[in-house]
Amino acid sequence: MLLRSALLSVAILMVAGAQTGNMATVAARYTGDANKLIDAAMKDDTALNRLEYLCYRIGNRLSGSPALEEAVKWSAAEMTRAGLSNVRTIPVKVPHWVRGAESAEMLEPAHKPLFMLGLGNSSATAAGGITAEVVTVSSFNELEQLGRAKLEGKIVLYDVPFTTYSETVLYRSSGASRAAHLGAVAVLVRSVTPRSLRDPHTGSLSYGATDPKIPGAAISVEDAIWIHRLTASGVPVKVHLEMQAHFQAEADSADVMGEITGSKYPDEVVVIGGHLDSWDVGQGAHDDGGGVMAALGAAALMKQLGLHPARTVRVVFWVNEENGARGGAAYKAWAGDQVAKHIAAIEMDGGAEKPVGFDLFAGSGPGRDAAGIRNKAVAIGSLLKRIEADSVTEGKGETDIAPLMNAGVPAFGLRTVMTKYWDYHHTQADTFDKIVPEEFRQCVATMAVMSYVLADWPK
Ligand SMILES: [Zn+2]
Repeated sequence: MLLRSALLSVAILMVAGAQTGNMATVAARYTGDANKLIDAAMKDDTALNRLEYLCYRIGNRLSGSPALEEAVKWSAAEMTRAGLSNVRTIPVKVPHWVRGAESAEMLEPAHKPLFMLGLGNSSATAAGGITAEVVTVSSFNELEQLGRAKLEGKIVLYDVPFTTYSETVLYRSSGASRAAHLGAVAVLVRSVTPRSLRDPHTGSLSYGATDPKIPGAAISVEDAIWIHRLTASGVPVKVHLEMQAHFQAEADSADVMGEITGSKYPDEVVVIGGHLDSWDVGQGAHDDGGGVMAALGAAALMKQLGLHPARTVRVVFWVNEENGARGGAAYKAWAGDQVAKHIAAIEMDGGAEKPVGFDLFAGSGPGRDAAGIRNKAVAIGSLLKRIEADSVTEGKGETDIAPLMNAGVPAFGLRTVMTKYWDYHHTQADTFDKIVPEEFRQCVATMAVMSYVLADWPK
């Protein structure tokens, strides 16, 4: 027992000692460079101007749309203009889902339009639409309890208040198949958001292999509450839903990348980026135009300041995050054996609000020095204290870097205060005017400092 606690003390001292070393390295080698990056990010608006162009001149960019392909070409040109090396595209075949005309209206007890957006990947209604009575449930449990006898031929409304995104989004993503399994003909889903100004939020659904692929649409929180009030008090509600959503043939698209080649270890890579595609509503400003433009802005500042990291900083704009995640898989396939030389992957995909730091999945298992990576990240994070972006917490990775993470690459997600992100997420309101310039500049600074120091860290 005594020996064990003595060994434990030694281990704790060693870890503490390593961290003292990390902090000393950071302070001595990187305080000056980090401050230069932060100062430049806070006064250079090239990145913000690029985001404005993407939003107002190209607009939303769903996989398969001409706008996404325009964004791919423009992004490659912007990377070249920013002075990045090895600018190229990686071909990706993407699904091409088209929303088509759509509407929903209440027919009984009153004739009123509903504020709706079809869910991504949804099938269409039959020509002329579906008219059916609505059954409201607040959970999958309630759905199962009602069973086929009460659900056959009905439209199911999931009126589930927002708890966390990962919990509530299950109703959007799997609600259609679970209701179809019990005989429902369509689903309406309360928008996945904690607050609402009667704005519906789209997002993808995915169908199970065996149940009928019934159409699914999001309705505004207000409309969901309204219908629920009526059905709960025994008033029958009848809704007419019409959707022409469909898939076209898969389309050609591409991830876009460019880099600052490492000065000492060019084949070791820190990859940073976000996703270039968006939903087909709003402008994809917070989701995820801000992420891609902050990543490019970070690398562009290193170039501009003459900072040459020892390892390569590679900027990647992934495509098809929203309805297929093909871009993340394509990048990993393209990188092949080089994945083993990826030091870290950093994705920004939580909106461009005020950053607080990073979520980190440092990996586990043999050969992985998770504690070492975490300690380095914490030490580097301390350089961001002056803009209050120094927090490093445990994370689960992000969609586009998940393939790298699953192959053992430490995965960082930029984390923000997220006070308004879910208000705009996947809506017509995700537009450039919702970007607060000062906060976006801080995102650029945060991406720049973490990626530069990780890439330059002494062997
Ligand atoms: Zn996103």
